[in-house]
Amino acid sequence: MEPLDRSTTWPYEDGEPGPFLYQRYGHPTGAAAERALGELDGGTALLFPSGAGATTALVLSLLRPGDTIALAEGCYFGTGVLFRALEAWGLRVVEFDQTGPPPDGVQLVWEEAPSNPFLTMPDLEAAAAHAAPLVVDSTAATPVHLRPLEHGADFVLHSATKYLGGHDDVLLGAVVCRDPEQAKRLLAFRTISGIVAAPDPAWLLLRGLKTLRVRVERQSASARELARRLEGHAAVTIVRYAGFGGLLSFDVADAEAARRVETGVSLITNATSLGGTRSKIEARARWEGDRVPPGLLRLSVGLEDPDELWADLEQALG
Ligand code: PLP
Repeated sequence: MEPLDRSTTWPYEDGEPGPFLYQRYGHPTGAAAERALGELDGGTALLFPSGAGATTALVLSLLRPGDTIALAEGCYFGTGVLFRALEAWGLRVVEFDQTGPPPDGVQLVWEEAPSNPFLTMPDLEAAAAHAAPLVVDSTAATPVHLRPLEHGADFVLHSATKYLGGHDDVLLGAVVCRDPEQAKRLLAFRTISGIVAAPDPAWLLLRGLKTLRVRVERQSASARELARRLEGHAAVTIVRYAGFGGLLSFDVADAEAARRVETGVSLITNATSLGGTRSKIEARARWEGDRVPPGLLRLSVGLEDPDELWADLEQALG
């Protein structure tokens, strides 16, 4: 493994700062993880302490008071909560259907591939044709399934807490920039604002990336099969699945039925988050209120045996 260097300061060389001088500016473990992720997404990667931290840094560095963000409807609810909190600093938010073109008169377009928990895919061609810079939150797709910079996105955002870290033991975010000059500006903002990831989480990202492809391919294959079987289950009214990736959601009759399912599973854990090795399920209405149907369950498929996962779901649905 690449070494984990926790130094916060490095000696000057002949009275001059070397490539690393103070941890907030950058550190060798973070630089190694950024190189690895940058290669996967085909751009220049920068790490942040969480996905939400990456979102905050990107938006504050790109926009000015009075600017408007076009935010895809139905994407991670915390992103909308954050943008609305930033309205106090003069930003505005409008929502739009990401399966069509973004609205005119906005300064940033924010999409999610696929959206969490509705699993819609953005029309990337239409968004790339828009004059405003395009951010694609590709947390659920990962570079295994999608490289948004190749489809005209200017920035890719990841909650690396999910599939990239992959083991439910690291909180981390990343932005991958298409233009190295934009990356320099974002790095400068990260350095002065201090919204920077520490070496330990960066090292865990390096560890996670080594198995990203095998994990995500296995999770995708299992999720595809579970989505197919859920489609045929009498207690399930709708299944949402993008056709790839380890994330899906499905509806049962109502909130009580959803509670019976999430408390009735045993192999699958009743917990929030996604992208780890262990499968997790939860009714999203507890967080998102009436933005989601009361019977909507989000399932993040892990690495367990798919037949055992199905047996667990089937008995809980029963
Ligand atoms: N983007 C998506 C799609 C998410 O699902 C999440 C968290 O659930 C985030 C961003 C925020 O990431 P974090 O929890 O690492 O701050």
